[in-house]
Amino acid sequence: MNAPIRLALIGIGKIARDQHLPAIGADPAFELVAAVSRNASVEGVANFPDIAALIASGLAVDAVSICTPPVGRHRIAAAALAAGWHVMLEKPPGATLAEVRALQAGAGGRSLFASWHSRAAAGVAPARAWLAGRQVRSGRIVWREDLRKWHPGQAWILGPGGLGVFDPGINALSILTELLTSLRVDRARLSFPVGRDSPIAAEVMLATGEAMLEADFDFRETGAETWRIELDTDAGRLVLEDGGARCSIDGEAQPLSAAAEYPALYRHFAGLVAAGASDVDLRPLELVADAFMIGERRETAAFDF
Ligand code: NAP
Repeated sequence: MNAPIRLALIGIGKIARDQHLPAIGADPAFELVAAVSRNASVEGVANFPDIAALIASGLAVDAVSICTPPVGRHRIAAAALAAGWHVMLEKPPGATLAEVRALQAGAGGRSLFASWHSRAAAGVAPARAWLAGRQVRSGRIVWREDLRKWHPGQAWILGPGGLGVFDPGINALSILTELLTSLRVDRARLSFPVGRDSPIAAEVMLATGEAMLEADFDFRETGAETWRIELDTDAGRLVLEDGGARCSIDGEAQPLSAAAEYPALYRHFAGLVAAGASDVDLRPLELVADAFMIGERRETAAFDF
């Protein structure tokens, strides 16, 4: 068995604590050796306020996993690659497309993994297998959640480069790009709260072949939340619910593995490191960029966290 990958976790916030720390702790392929965060710390490992301090410490590190907000992540990832470390990125992989491409170009022999956690949801692989060879005729995506619940006090998310409602919406797009070979934004309408730089809601028409998929992304849901993808095909109807955790075909629930998303992401990262490979798929971020590029913009009520 190979020695564990000595990992530093960077950006100790909600997702680092909720998902990354438990997944790393349960995976023998990794040994958490450091945490890097300006304010937060992790017990039992070396803590550093920024990546420069980690590099300067000379601590033996093989890889970093970056969970900071997208703006500023490029600088951290580039420094880690330059230090000779493998890099795993939370979604979205960056604030712009070009900065992620620059990371790819500069990765050299290190593994760069742009993770899309929703692709590891239990229903996605069976959905993909079922869809192969079928023709999508129409579809509807409803991704409505409560911003205050999932991002308490995270003003960055409605700031420039925070992606707004596309922060969760990109999870749906990461699943769709896994399921469908061609997908493009046909038109979009984006709603920006007064005084904010990223949208709180978006209606997006996506085209796949001749079919149109209607997407409703909304961060203002205070009732029942929905993360649902419905695809009507020439040979039946596929529904993914709970962000891909449940899959039904023509109303019949499909048997699924109990696989959890973040443990699967870390297994994949360990496999990439072992194989000397990278995995960077920018299609979900391209779709978001295109929605910003051609979307109609309108102002909506101010939002306070
Ligand atoms: P978060 O709670 O705000 O945590 C991010 C942490 O990064 C902060 O606590 C902060 O810790 C550090 N940080 C470094 N530079 C920062 C800056 N300029 N502004 C704010 N914080 C900065 O955010 P999160 O919810 O964990 O989300 C982080 C990433 O994970 C995002 O890309 C998001 O899309 C993704 N994600 C989130 C969820 C979720 O449910 N929340 C789910 C899946 C994926 P220090 O102050 O200690 O530096």
